[in-house]
Amino acid sequence: MTRVQLTDVGKRYPGRSKGDPDIVAVDDVSIEVASGEIHAIIGYSGAGKSTLLRLVNGLERATSGTITVGEAVLTDLSERQLRPVRSQIGMIFQQFNLFHSKSVAKNVEYPLVVAGVPAAERAARVAELLAFVGLQDRARAYVDQLSGGQKQRVGIARALATSPGVLLADEATSALDPETSREVLALLKRVNDELGITIILITHEMEVVREIADRVTVMDGGRTVEQGDVFEVFSAP
Ligand code: ADP
Ligand code: ADP
Repeated sequence: MTRVQLTDVGKRYPGRSKGDPDIVAVDDVSIEVASGEIHAIIGYSGAGKSTLLRLVNGLERATSGTITVGEAVLTDLSERQLRPVRSQIGMIFQQFNLFHSKSVAKNVEYPLVVAGVPAAERAARVAELLAFVGLQDRARAYVDQLSGGQKQRVGIARALATSPGVLLADEATSALDPETSREVLALLKRVNDELGITIILITHEMEVVREIADRVTVMDGGRTVEQGDVFEVFSAP
C-alpha cells in the first residue's frame, strides 16, 4: 500500500539560450494520492504533466518542494539512494517503450534481470505476470507481431514485474483505438483493485478520467487549476 504526496513541487529548466528566462515546467503543485487511489492528471499539451510524472518516478529532480512515495522522501535522496526506490515505481508510456526485437517474455523479464533476481524465480514471475495480463500464449512472440493493445499489456506486465506500490501511466491509452483503450483501462482497474496498486495517470481525454479515476488534478501552464473528486470537478457548475 503506497501513498504519494507532492508538496509545493516546482521544476525549472534553463532557458534555451544564455540570458533567456528559465522555463517553469511545474509551478508549486501539491497533490496527495491516498494508498490504493487512482489519480488522474489532465491538461493540454505543455501543461507540465509529463514533467511531473518524471519527478515522481525519480527520473528527474524537482527544483523545489517535497515528493514522498511510500516511506521514501525522493527529494531528500541521492541518486544512489533513489535506485532501489525506483523499482517500487512502475511506469507505462504512450508509445509502450518496449524492446521490439525481443520476445514478450524477455521484455517482461528485463526489470527482474536488472534487479538481480535468479533465473528460475524470473521464469515463474514472468509466467504469473503474463497470465495476469492475459498474454500467457504470446510469451515467445516478438513485440513487433503484437497489436497496440497487446503491446500495452506487455508494458503493464513489465511495469509490474518488481511488484511496485505505484504505477505511473503517461498517456497509456492515447495511441489506441477506443475499444482497445477501454480494455487497457479495465486492466489498469484490475491492477488497482486486485493488486492494491496506487495509480497516477496522465491523459488529455476526459473519458479516461471519468472511466477509472477517483480524483483529478487539472494542470495548465505548470500550475494546478482544479483538483478534487472526479465527480465534483466534472459536475456542471
Ligand atoms: P508531450 O507534450 O507529449 O509531453 P513533448 O513533445 O512536449 O511531449 O516532449 C517530448 C520530450 O521532449 C520530453 O521528454 C520532454 O522532456 C522533452 N522536451 C519537451 N520540451 C522541451 C524543451 N523545450 N526543451 C528540451 N526538451 C523538451
Ligand atoms: P505536458 O506533458 O503537459 O505536455 P511537459 O511536462 O512535457 O507538458 O512540458 C511542460 C513545459 O516544460 C513545456 O513548456 C515544455 O516545453 C517544457 N519542458 C519539458 N521538458 C523540458 C526539458 N527537458 N527541457 C526544457 N523544457 C522542458
